[in-house]
Amino acid sequence: MWKSLRILLLLLVLAAVALDAWLDRIATQSWRETLWVGIFPLNGDASPQAQRYLAGLSAQDFAPIEDFLAREGHRYGLQLDLPVHIELYPQGGQLPPALAPGAGPLGVAWWSLKLRWFALHASQVPGRAPPRIRVFVLYHDPSVLAHAPDSHGLQKGLVAVVHAFADRTMNGSNDIVIAHELLHTVGASDKYDLSSGAPLFPIGFADPDRRPLYPQTEAEIMAGRLALSAQEWEMPRSLSRVVVGRQTALEIRWTH
Ligand SMILES: [Zn+2]
Repeated sequence: MWKSLRILLLLLVLAAVALDAWLDRIATQSWRETLWVGIFPLNGDASPQAQRYLAGLSAQDFAPIEDFLAREGHRYGLQLDLPVHIELYPQGGQLPPALAPGAGPLGVAWWSLKLRWFALHASQVPGRAPPRIRVFVLYHDPSVLAHAPDSHGLQKGLVAVVHAFADRTMNGSNDIVIAHELLHTVGASDKYDLSSGAPLFPIGFADPDRRPLYPQTEAEIMAGRLALSAQEWEMPRSLSRVVVGRQTALEIRWTH
């Protein structure tokens, strides 16, 4: 009797978790109303440079991401003027849990649970409605850190952690990273070689039919880089030279 009750309870919890993930998916992939995305800026390295940068940050700095998704959405026939609205929240004081390098599947699962728990609390800002998708952006002084740590976007939990540079001249590339992780949360997968960083052909190319194929002039957002040749690739300066490729559009249900 008690044993079956325990099993029933466990099944109910699992069903609730599955239902929750399914509802999140429907809400973020229907594209019938504007999706609210919250940016939660953080001082990633406790540096004065990042603090100065954060003081000058405004919602306008993220407008290119809204414009990019509106422009690309229209290209796929989306009947929505603004697919994504970005809302800037005040700077937070606590950093999200870090994923240990080389963490196994169990370590990743545990980290993602901790991250969701963190996001639940960190996105409660008095007087502000919580957004559907939470993006925590950790700004670093570029003179201290040459390469930003890996950023992550999770579809389960609708939360992303982005490492960005506290330098206004790098706003364009920061926006590319934020848009990339944001699209992970709505179901897009990576389209670059995880070991070399090379865009995958054809799905990671903005124009896979181009003749000659190289150099590509634009990047696919989930590849993040445009191929200059078979051996060279670079990140564009801004989202004006980035597109949402057909495979990504399929994954996020912009097209069928
Ligand atoms: Zn990615």
